[in-house]
Amino acid sequence: MTSYARGPDLDLTTLTTHQIFRQTVERFPERDALIVRHQNIRLTWRDLANEVERTARGLIGMGLRPGDRVGVWAANCAEWIYLQLGCARAGLVQVNVNPAYRAYELKYILKKSGMKALILRAGDSRSDYRAILEEACKGQDLALRHTIYLGEDSWARMIDAGIEAGAGPRDCHDVVNIQYTSGTTGSPKGVLLTHHNLVNNGRIIAESLRITEADRICVPVPMYHCFGCVGGTMVSINTGAAMILPAPWFDPLCTMRAVQEDRATAIYGVPTMFIAQLQHPEFSQFDFSSLRTGIMAGAPCPIEVMKRVVAEMHCPQMTIIYGQTESSPTITAASVDDSLERRTSTVGKACPATEVKIVSPSGEIVPIGEQGELCTRGYLVMKGYDQEPEATARAIDRDGWLHTGDLATMRPDGYFRITGRLKDMIIRGGENIYPREVEEFLYTHPKIADVQVIGVPDEKMGESVAAWVKLKSGATMTEDDLRDFCKGRIAHFKIPQYVRFVETFPMTVTGKIQKFVMRETEIRDRHLENAAQIRTA
Ligand code: AMP
Repeated sequence: MTSYARGPDLDLTTLTTHQIFRQTVERFPERDALIVRHQNIRLTWRDLANEVERTARGLIGMGLRPGDRVGVWAANCAEWIYLQLGCARAGLVQVNVNPAYRAYELKYILKKSGMKALILRAGDSRSDYRAILEEACKGQDLALRHTIYLGEDSWARMIDAGIEAGAGPRDCHDVVNIQYTSGTTGSPKGVLLTHHNLVNNGRIIAESLRITEADRICVPVPMYHCFGCVGGTMVSINTGAAMILPAPWFDPLCTMRAVQEDRATAIYGVPTMFIAQLQHPEFSQFDFSSLRTGIMAGAPCPIEVMKRVVAEMHCPQMTIIYGQTESSPTITAASVDDSLERRTSTVGKACPATEVKIVSPSGEIVPIGEQGELCTRGYLVMKGYDQEPEATARAIDRDGWLHTGDLATMRPDGYFRITGRLKDMIIRGGENIYPREVEEFLYTHPKIADVQVIGVPDEKMGESVAAWVKLKSGATMTEDDLRDFCKGRIAHFKIPQYVRFVETFPMTVTGKIQKFVMRETEIRDRHLENAAQIRTA
């Protein structure tokens, strides 16, 4: 048997985002659609349809035409959803801009995307976006013609000057959204996604969680990322489920309050978000009994954390989903009916209408149980990277397979496990070490709350292992304690040579740990520059 799987056949829909949205509005006009707690906004599907129409009319009224690109640069808020659905309604291409971007990254995206309009919030407690924009635009010859500030006169004027938005797009293969892949490596690339990609992916996520109009999904993940704008909005418009946004950005307390007070039935998060809630001093005071299901995704999901979410957050049907921006994002998912073991220790099986294979470095499909790179094919594969034909050709091969860069194994039962990143692999004196494996092992230590393992340059061995460890509150440990715990239990070459106890990890807004920042810190603090040069030479 080889590591190839094909999900069940599915009659993919050819409806556009707006057509799907309209169907839901017509089916459930009076049901809750969107709750944005920090803005005190509560909308039914009919209310949301009005906001979306007004937004689409305003965008067209500014002179934007189908196919034009519109940037949205804000933390989670109601207008983000109006713009997402308003762009889709008007045939515009929404460009998601990460709220963590600073002038350098913003300039890059303004130029690269050729956006004609940018809708942003002038500032919040985290950033002065207006000032960052001014700096990014300085001396640049950009296509940007309209800058609209949320909550200010320019937004009201845009809405007031709205005109008939036209019939809207008809072709489901048109690009509707550009999402920039998170900056854990190199410069960001714009992923071109079509209605077909996103509508169907949303439907598949919804089916694996059995989401219906009776569900209320708590979405503390960022909207600019696929977890929010597909896992949230596209699931919601496919089913009629309400979306609850607890705060502009992740906050454990606001999330737990949202679940309790708005009776959420589903909760999303990257692993660190669940860890933050489970560890919160007020965790035990919250009532999670309304919860039924949820998704943990976006990064390796430790088994122990999954089990605690199932048991302590009242999520008997909690699942893990695996995917990436380039695949809309979902590739594999466990179903709510799967056994607890499958839902906590694997990332599920190939989704409907999705092919998955695991290949060796030479491109051969590997035997069951053997590790290799996970590739996927089907409706879910992006149209390509925006204006990057070479990068696109590297990511999607001639046969249409998207190469994810993730290492995985497939079990005989067809379930997958993600075992690391191709680029993360540590090679120490010729021994391949997968950080994920060492992390899972260290995670079994009762005092360790979270841990990240990286390779750092070593003059003799090429690389050596470093671990950054977050201890549970009140716990103490020395470097030697940690190494003693490893001795005899994992291969000697996997035992961390360097250990650093930390409170936080460097992270992107989506909770993706920036291992390259950790590596740079180690090189600087431990004076490993020489070794680093030998390695790159
Ligand atoms: P992004 O494109 O920002 O969504 O990042 C996608 C990457 O996150 C994938 O290529 C994986 O490396 C990682 N990832 C996403 N979901 C999972 C998961 N369930 N388990 C392990 N890694 C994941």
